[in-house]
Amino acid sequence: LTFLGIETSCDDTAAAVVRRLSDGGALILSSVVEGQAELHAAFGGVVPEIAARAHAEKIDHAVEAALSAASVSLADLDGIAVTAGPGLIGGLLSGLMLAKGLAAATGLPMVGVNHLAGHALTPRLTDAVAYPYLMLLVSGGHCQFLAVEGPETFHRLGSTIDDAPGEAFDKIAKLLALPQPGGPHVEREAALGDLARFRFPRPLLDRPGCDLSFSGLKTAVLRARDEIIAQKGGLTVQDRRDLCAGFQAAVADVLAEKTRRALAAFPAPVIAVAGGVAANGAIRARLQAVADQAGARFLAPPLKLCTDNAAMIAWAGIERHLAGGVDDATLSVRSRWPLDAAAVPLIGSGK
Ligand code: ATP
Ligand code: FE
Repeated sequence: LTFLGIETSCDDTAAAVVRRLSDGGALILSSVVEGQAELHAAFGGVVPEIAARAHAEKIDHAVEAALSAASVSLADLDGIAVTAGPGLIGGLLSGLMLAKGLAAATGLPMVGVNHLAGHALTPRLTDAVAYPYLMLLVSGGHCQFLAVEGPETFHRLGSTIDDAPGEAFDKIAKLLALPQPGGPHVEREAALGDLARFRFPRPLLDRPGCDLSFSGLKTAVLRARDEIIAQKGGLTVQDRRDLCAGFQAAVADVLAEKTRRALAAFPAPVIAVAGGVAANGAIRARLQAVADQAGARFLAPPLKLCTDNAAMIAWAGIERHLAGGVDDATLSVRSRWPLDAAAVPLIGSGK
């Protein structure tokens, strides 16, 4: 079974071709990601109108590049998977319109995919992990623990009540005049800092359950920064490193403890991570230790497949299709689409 995947939910225009082998394994024949970071850099965040226009301009090329890199033509495909949400409506529509056009022209089945399901099913794409397993999705837009029991069966054990950790890393970088996206820069500075100098709060650790919070932590770092500036008139290189180290230690503590609780609540043989924050070495090491202690296998897919890509969408489409899922020309996009909640009103074309 060979699927084309199309992903345009945020600021990466992506297309990929993925084949499911008869033994259940997967082959990524191509995975093209055309980023837009440079278009949004000056604005300090993703601008929806700019993203929508860029997706519309890039998506045809991304799909052609993915087909040609995979050495397949449309006739070799068995289906088309497209992200239908959650995300920015304008971008999602670019991907969906192309998918509908291709499906109408070729007669191939089209399968709408939840972007979060794409992330959540990635361990099956990369490592053929069996159901059930536990997933920690930690990205710029999301932070949640998911019990993954089937291609369309997800239970949320907990999620952030405010910011996502990647967002917090980005805001800390901004506070300290480090480049965006901030995660890798904060990690680099933190490695050279003293993590004992600042003791930042560990939000929600005093409360039971797996929900998380990161916005108070960000405020605490801001206050500590302003205090140093008030005292000394500015930040030294070492101040900045120490602030990063203290911040990252707090994030790692929170994620580690909540992961321990999630594994206790849902004792799965595997805990997998996805999302850009999973790139953080210090955080990974803590999660690995928690998994070891619980007797679970810790799985961190290659970074390219942890961040936004279309291979995960193609794969999630294959899994949904094998479970009987298919959509028609009335498929619409959704800006909000929780994995485990009832459907929300549809926005966009079709209905
Ligand atoms: P989503 O996919 O949830 O809509 P997104 O596209 O912003 O959100 P990703 O592309 O998965 O998320 O990840 C990007 C985020 O990961 C950014 O916030 C970035 O700062 C963060 N990040 C990347 N590398 C690191 C790192 N080494 N340490 C911490 N955070 C990191
Ligand atoms: Fe994502």
